[in-house]
Amino acid sequence: MKYNVVIIGAGVAGMTSALYLKRAGLSCCIVEEKAPGGQLNYISTIENYPGSKNIQGSDLAFNIYNQVSELEIPFIFEQVKEIKQEENKTIVLTDNQKLYAEYIIIATGRSPKKLNLAGEKKLFGKGISYCAICDGPLYKDQEVVIVGAGDSAIKESLFLSNICNKVTILVRKDSFRGKDNLSEVRKKKNITIKYNSEIEQFIGEDKLEKIILKNKEEISCAACFIFIGYHPSTQIFLNLNITDKLGYIETDEFCRTKQKNIFAIGDVRKKDIFQIITAMNDGVIAATTIIDEANI
Ligand SMILES: Cc1cc2nc3c(=O)[nH]c(=O)nc-3n(C[C@H](O)[C@H](O)[C@H](O)COP(=O)(O)OP(=O)(O)OC[C@H]3O[C@@H](n4cnc5c(N)ncnc54)[C@H](O)[C@@H]3O)c2cc1C
Repeated sequence: MKYNVVIIGAGVAGMTSALYLKRAGLSCCIVEEKAPGGQLNYISTIENYPGSKNIQGSDLAFNIYNQVSELEIPFIFEQVKEIKQEENKTIVLTDNQKLYAEYIIIATGRSPKKLNLAGEKKLFGKGISYCAICDGPLYKDQEVVIVGAGDSAIKESLFLSNICNKVTILVRKDSFRGKDNLSEVRKKKNITIKYNSEIEQFIGEDKLEKIILKNKEEISCAACFIFIGYHPSTQIFLNLNITDKLGYIETDEFCRTKQKNIFAIGDVRKKDIFQIITAMNDGVIAATTIIDEANI
């Protein structure tokens, strides 16, 4: 199939750019390996999205998906494996598709970092989780641990404190990095904060039973939620030589990479602020730049 623009990733960035491109008369498709919405699906409540005081991440994802689908923009639910040049044409490859594109927008976002500790892989989905909204309700009225010191750890600890009996936050250093809602966390009676605390090992066979800290303290818990940062999803683009040393894609202010007609938007792009609105903003900028240039 041939499109004016192939968008890789159906997070808010990718879906926003599709909306602008199609409304301007360009053909485009979105290739997505998981579910539309990307990280939105992992957010409990969003409180900083103007126009909606409190909205669940998955609801916002669903609303945008519906809006894009109504424009008959095709979603191809497959994993992109490679972008390459073939006879002077740029193609996007999945296992089953060869998509020809005049322009490509990379909107593959980022995914949560793991601690890479003993027991973590084995107990993933059996007590170890990277998503409070997905798995929090499974541990209703139980004791859970959160690892992290950023805004996501703070926000998701509040969400879990409304479901679980007791929430213990393990902070590696002696303070939080995040600031939003910290005062709310301190007010919660069922949240305990342990500073200078690092996990050494997860214990459990079929499910998580306890955590052993580096200082040998043991914490019994039904679940451990890990929020320690992200990796950009750019492994498959390393051959294009467009990433920085952390793996984020470098662009100019119009979201152009140094490869001709390849753009990068949203959390996958090297930038300072990783938010829904900044991801959408990138989507609009890339799309309108392409619309201006494409002359189609
Ligand atoms: C727990 C949590 C809480 C947050 N809270 C807030 C908040 O309150 N307010 C706020 O503004 N922001 C918040 N954020 C940040 C916000 O969610 C992100 O900045 C934004 O959603 C990024 O959108 P994106 O489209 O750039 O990337 P993503 O949402 O990461 O989407 C990328 C998509 O690309 C797909 N993909 C990746 N690789 C491939 C491939 N090879 N082939 C096909 N598809 C691929 C992925 O499956 C994914 O669907 C939060 C994030 C998290 C995790």
